[in-house]
Amino acid sequence: MAKYDVKFSCGHTHTIELYGPTADRERKIKYLEECGICPECREAEKAVDCEEVEMHYSEYKNNYSDCKTKANSYNKKTKTIIVYVPKKAEEEIVEENTEKSEISLEDVAIKEMCKVAGKTANEDFAIKCKSQLSKPFSESLKNFEKSSKNAAPDKIKKGKEILEIIKSYKKSIGEEI
Ligand SMILES: [Zn+2]
Repeated sequence: MAKYDVKFSCGHTHTIELYGPTADRERKIKYLEECGICPECREAEKAVDCEEVEMHYSEYKNNYSDCKTKANSYNKKTKTIIVYVPKKAEEEIVEENTEKSEISLEDVAIKEMCKVAGKTANEDFAIKCKSQLSKPFSESLKNFEKSSKNAAPDKIKKGKEILEIIKSYKKSIGEEI
């Protein structure tokens, strides 16, 4: 975890906390700089670019619970409420989806490898994982055999699990092992 001063596309700088592999962090920062709106502007935007939508209270709870509601707009008879629905809501959902689909097989494998490593998984470890994934599997296997000669049993066990992750990653990208 680390803190970053990010200059959002709206021109304001905010400090944010980011987790995960360095490449992910850099990608996220780049995205925020190019398209991100800072938290304050986002709030201000909510109030301005909203539509008043009357909907059933349950729909508000299920799908719009983040939205502000109009004061005293709840109708006991019809069980409806007036919600300030941001006009940009649909656009934002599309953006989120494309961001999610950017998570690559490599990222998934690195995350799994970090999970196996547990507490010792830091940024350096993630970078090492990345380089392991880009090497031929035979090289990773050789490294493992070398480093496991005098290693503790639990370390060997973890090493084997990580090798399995590398193996299935190589398979998933269609690389011969
Ligand atoms: Zn701003």
